[in-house]
Amino acid sequence: MKRINTEVLKIDRNNPDKEKIKMAADVIKNGGTVAFPTETVYGLGANALDEKAVEKIFIAKGRPQDNPLIVHIGDVNQIYPLVESVPEKALKLMERFWPGPLTLLFNKSDKIPSKITGGLETVAIRMPNHKIAVELIKEANLPVAAPSANTSGKPSPTNASHVIEDLMGKIDMIIDGGNTGVGVESTVLDISTDMPTILRPGGITKEDLLEIFPEVKIDPALEKSSKDLKPKSPGQKYRHYSPNAQMIVIQGELQEISQSIKELLKEYEEKGLKVGIMATEQTKNIYESKNVIVVGDRDRPETIAANLFKVLREFDKKGVDLILAEGVEESGIGMAIMNRMRKAAGGNVKTIEN
Ligand code: AMP
Ligand code: MG
Repeated sequence: MKRINTEVLKIDRNNPDKEKIKMAADVIKNGGTVAFPTETVYGLGANALDEKAVEKIFIAKGRPQDNPLIVHIGDVNQIYPLVESVPEKALKLMERFWPGPLTLLFNKSDKIPSKITGGLETVAIRMPNHKIAVELIKEANLPVAAPSANTSGKPSPTNASHVIEDLMGKIDMIIDGGNTGVGVESTVLDISTDMPTILRPGGITKEDLLEIFPEVKIDPALEKSSKDLKPKSPGQKYRHYSPNAQMIVIQGELQEISQSIKELLKEYEEKGLKVGIMATEQTKNIYESKNVIVVGDRDRPETIAANLFKVLREFDKKGVDLILAEGVEESGIGMAIMNRMRKAAGGNVKTIEN
């Protein structure tokens, strides 16, 4: 691929400079690509109504053509031209959770190029809760298609430096707006079924959704034991969020997790591998290894979500061959964390039953 000149623009997220936002919006309006921070991860944006611009996203990321993109809006009214209709259920969710990390599926209108939806008749839409993202979209006055701004398959970027690592020379502009907050991507929710179905767990938890609906389903294809089912969210079928190193996630009671990690550490070091350990505040001092990285605090799992992708990239910089990662409890944001860990490990999860 021919390298292009990538401009990096620093913008203060609390007080975005209008001139700089305008420069970035002009790039989008002219059919270019801009990486920008959202509250979840950095997105790689382009004009959602311009098929050629959208194509540039797929090329820069090396993204499979059948993996659809989420369309981002900066104002609720931007949704109407993009969809056939906005069902009552969606309105309720939009009112409660937008702006925020919840992506909803709608039947698409003719305005949405099929390139965006990977040929599907539904389009995924969300309104991000981040000043830079919202002002950029409003200034461009266009819906902005934006998948995570990483090379396809790599951990999603939670800082501009991660975007620079992956996409420098491949996109027109990178807005550096500091660290993102949530750290894992949005929840993708299908409301076309009687019972709303989570197609990808994310920033809005199942528990959050249960405040509105009596029951919420998880796409059965996301369960560990369901290798034969086809996920309804096409992106979920790919190995994803992956460090260069191999990774094993250990799930169970904390005591057993750390015991198992100690044993595996010994076993693999004896084989000559450089082993990294993804530990937590609670366990950071119990492993005899130089390559321990603390991902967060088990009592505040949102800290684990916020740091997860960054830590995966740090292990690659250390050049470890294998990452042994402590699993977390699969409730609240823990569901999204375990989904990302499982994918990063290519399904390599060891569950210790007692
Ligand atoms: P990313 O933007 O990189 O976080 O990826 C977007 C995610 O949204 C992928 O997992 C897609 O499979 C999912 N997605 C986007 N559009 C649709 C759709 N129409 N139906 C189901 N999943 C979708
Ligand atoms: Mg992604």
